[in-house]
Amino acid sequence: YYNQDTFIYLDGEFVKADQAGTDLFGQSLHYGYGAFEGLRAYSTHHGTRIFKAEEHFERLAYSCNAINLPYQWNARQLVAETYQLLEMNNLRAAYIRPLVFSGSNMHLTSATTSKIMIAAWEWGPYLGQNLLRVCTSKIQRPNPKSFRIDAKVSGQYINAILAASDALKNGYDEALLLDQEGHIAQASSENLFIEKDFKLYTAPLDHVFPGITRETVIDICKALHIEVIEKKLTLQDVHEADSAFLCGTAAEIIGIKEVDHITYKEDWEHTIGATIQRKYKQLVLEEENYEVII
Ligand code: PMP
Repeated sequence: YYNQDTFIYLDGEFVKADQAGTDLFGQSLHYGYGAFEGLRAYSTHHGTRIFKAEEHFERLAYSCNAINLPYQWNARQLVAETYQLLEMNNLRAAYIRPLVFSGSNMHLTSATTSKIMIAAWEWGPYLGQNLLRVCTSKIQRPNPKSFRIDAKVSGQYINAILAASDALKNGYDEALLLDQEGHIAQASSENLFIEKDFKLYTAPLDHVFPGITRETVIDICKALHIEVIEKKLTLQDVHEADSAFLCGTAAEIIGIKEVDHITYKEDWEHTIGATIQRKYKQLVLEEENYEVII
């Protein structure tokens, strides 16, 4: 992720990544009490462009607010500083990781101070480019009554790590997780869409993380007059679908070949997912006018 020439942004300054640090007596390290984001910059014909940059920084503010972690920055300014960071690291396309973490405090009480760091590095599609083999996980998503599942909070990702690593250990590429009611919610760090009879279905917002890519997919579908139905999905719905795909900033749009060894019959290239995948690429690369599509 970095070498001796890499810069990161740390609380208003650009510093060498290998010389930056934090103290070991903080709630983020001990309790996972931090909030973060994942953005992507693309090398477009108009230069480097971060896709939906302000939306991501606004969600970071929302996540901090959800857990009472002080957030004292301005989205527009952070976007400008992120562009500067990309330039300093000679990155034309990159994955970008802002993290807000608590200052020194070991109490189990709301943080009183916080800092922000932003790092960027080259990263291909998170789950690769081949169709995925996924399984349903024994590990459930956190209960929304015990955790703010709409916030991107560090500690919550232990759930993702456990589910994804269990799937990998068993020879799969990714896991699908059930929500507290036993419905299929999403993958460890991507949202799920299934296609059935030329319509798309995805789990409703109060059961999943509100992915920005999920929203983009819905907007692309609106522009293409493809119906998207938000409803609780059963395992049977997922197994009996015509096709399915995952979406997220890191993974982008990636098709699923099989779920629990049940292979989708539809040839991926002929699915709605494949169309969305092409449109998404055009959008992020600004080959299509954003206003026209959305
Ligand atoms: N679900 C979870 C749990 C995630 O961490 C992410 C990635 N932030 C997503 C879904 C996809 O969200 P987005 O499209 O905003 O990257």
